[in-house]
Amino acid sequence: MITIEKIEQMQAHIMAERQKGKTIGFVPTMGYLHEGHVALLKRAREENDTVVLSIFVNPLQFGPNEDFERYPRDFERDYAIAKQAGVDIVFYPSVHEMYPHEPSVTVRVHERIDVLCGKSRPGHFDGVATVVTKLFHIVMPHRAYFGMKDAQQVAVIDGLIRDFHFPIELIAVPTVREEDGLAKSSRNVYLSDRERQEASALYAALQKGKATIEAGERDVETVRKAMIDYIERHTSGVIDYVEIYSYPELQPLQSLRGKIILALAVRFTNARLIDNIVMNVQ
Ligand code: AMP
Repeated sequence: MITIEKIEQMQAHIMAERQKGKTIGFVPTMGYLHEGHVALLKRAREENDTVVLSIFVNPLQFGPNEDFERYPRDFERDYAIAKQAGVDIVFYPSVHEMYPHEPSVTVRVHERIDVLCGKSRPGHFDGVATVVTKLFHIVMPHRAYFGMKDAQQVAVIDGLIRDFHFPIELIAVPTVREEDGLAKSSRNVYLSDRERQEASALYAALQKGKATIEAGERDVETVRKAMIDYIERHTSGVIDYVEIYSYPELQPLQSLRGKIILALAVRFTNARLIDNIVMNVQ
C-alpha cells in the first residue's frame, strides 16, 4: 500500500494503472475509519483491480459553526485499517493541495437539497459535489463507493455523475451498524456514555416507523409523529429533522407508497447524528 499526497502524482499513477488495463475502485472518506468505511473498501476490493481510498476532511462542506476543526483525525490508525482492508493507494492531500487558493469554480447542486441535511446545512452539498468532482478528476475511477448512511449524498452524487457525464459507476453500500443498531459514524466518539446508550433509539425509532407502515398505516404525519415521540421519550437529544420522502427523488408524499426514505437527524451535546432506512411500500 502506498500513500500519495500530491494531485499530479496521483493522476500519473492512476493513468499508468489504467494503461495496464486495470479497473479502479474509489472510496472517498474523511478518515477516522470504522467498519462502515471498511464495508465500502471490502466491496471495492472485490470488484476492482486497484482500490484507492481518499482521506480528506473537506472544509468546503462544513458550515461556519460546524465541526471542521474538531472533526476526529488519526492518520496512523487509518493507515493500519486501510492496509488490513486491502487498499492499494491512500490519497491523503492537504487542504492547501486541494484548495491552493479560493476556488474560482465550484459546483452548485440544485435538486434534492431543500430537504433533510441540505436544508439543515446550507451549502453542504455544494461542498460535497465540488470536492467529489475534483476527486473524480484526480482518481479517475471506474467505480465509486458511497454509504447509504448518507442516503441524500448518494442521491446528490447520482445526479452529479449523470449531469456531468462522469464515466463512473456509483455503488451504494448498506449502512453498517453497531450491535444495538446505532449506525457507525466517526462522530460517535463525541457522545457521552449516557448519550451513546440513548443513541440506539435513533435506529429503533426508524424501525418503529417502518413497523407502523408495515402494519398498514399510510399517513405520513402519523408515522412521523410515532418516530418523533419515540426519540423524545428515549433520548436527551434535540431533533433536527424526522422526515419521510420518496427515494431517491426526495419529494414530499401525500400517502406512503413506493420506494420511500425514513430519515432523521438528532443533535446531542457534541455530535449531530443522522440515520435513515429506505423501504418499498406496496
Ligand atoms: P465519511 O468519512 O463520514 O465522509 O464517510 C465516507 C463514506 O463512508 C461515505 O460514503 C459514507 O456514507 C460511508 N459511511 C459512513 N458511515 C457508514 C456506515 N455506518 N455504513 C456504511 N457506510 C458508511
